[in-house]
Amino acid sequence: MKTTQETTPYIEVRGLKKYFSTKRGTLHAVDDVDLFINRGETLGLVGESGCGKSTLGRCLIRLLEPTAGEIRVNAEDGKGTDITGLGKAKMKEMRKKLQIVFQDPYASLNPRLPVWELIAEPLRVNRVCKSKEDMQKRIRYLMDVVGLAERLENTYPHELDGGRRQRIGVARALALEPEFIVLDEPVSALDVCIQAQILNLLHRLQKEFSYTYLFISHDLSVVKHVSDRIAVMYLGKIVETGEYRELFRKPLHPYTQALLSAIPVAKLNVAREQILLEGDVPSPVNPPPGCRFMPRCHYAQEICSRELPKLREHEPQHFVACHFTGNLQPKTK
Ligand code: SF4
Repeated sequence: MKTTQETTPYIEVRGLKKYFSTKRGTLHAVDDVDLFINRGETLGLVGESGCGKSTLGRCLIRLLEPTAGEIRVNAEDGKGTDITGLGKAKMKEMRKKLQIVFQDPYASLNPRLPVWELIAEPLRVNRVCKSKEDMQKRIRYLMDVVGLAERLENTYPHELDGGRRQRIGVARALALEPEFIVLDEPVSALDVCIQAQILNLLHRLQKEFSYTYLFISHDLSVVKHVSDRIAVMYLGKIVETGEYRELFRKPLHPYTQALLSAIPVAKLNVAREQILLEGDVPSPVNPPPGCRFMPRCHYAQEICSRELPKLREHEPQHFVACHFTGNLQPKTK
């Protein structure tokens, strides 16, 4: 979205964990994550399927209860409100500020409700409107903001294309005048030309209403176009974060390097050497004790198997979790 960037954190996350009990043991979906998102910016969160990025996004707005850690909202003063400690009533108030747009608009909308009712739902649940006229006005306004024609208010989700369905999802997220929106793969279920329309819509809304976004995607080429900063996630951990230009110009973590090398280059006569990762992603039920990326890393050394690298600031605002940042040597066999 590339807005004028402020440097005050709206959300600050410390030591966030989300574990699930499974038959095979404890699944470490999000494991000790530290993160901040500045007010008015878009943080792109990327990583392979199953790395924990959607779980992290849902924890940030407490759609999932974190196992441990702090999530401070409005953290500009260095404190903010730790929402992990809020009771039901206070969290209901706070949730108006923290919204989500889901990946599959069809699956996330009740197929039995027309557009009007779908947008009315969050307004009704939160008793936002004082009268029927007020509700009508608000719904028409929201439809207009997201680019849905008034004539569509009595149509059902199955009668609309994917782009229009996603516009309903965005209208529902905006209904309570949020400050922060988790965009969980908001365009990956859409055709390419519709993807561009939705990305443009989200960009315009951010400029108009100064929203703070967490944009989750497995597609780095999409994230590149919408983010101010990027965080790369691998097996429940953040392995690199940085300003988007810097991260693309000089990726420092071997996993980020491999992800970037897989993006197709759109220029003739320009070839990029793809870094092929061998081996499978280790199980999040039994993550390796040292660096999580070690079994697939071309630069792994002995220390990597026993010591977990911490996320450290290698250059201003560029954080990397690797024992050998800036000094990667191919591993000896
Ligand atoms: Fe590779 Fe070791 Fe760095 Fe992990 S810590 S990314 S295994 S070099």
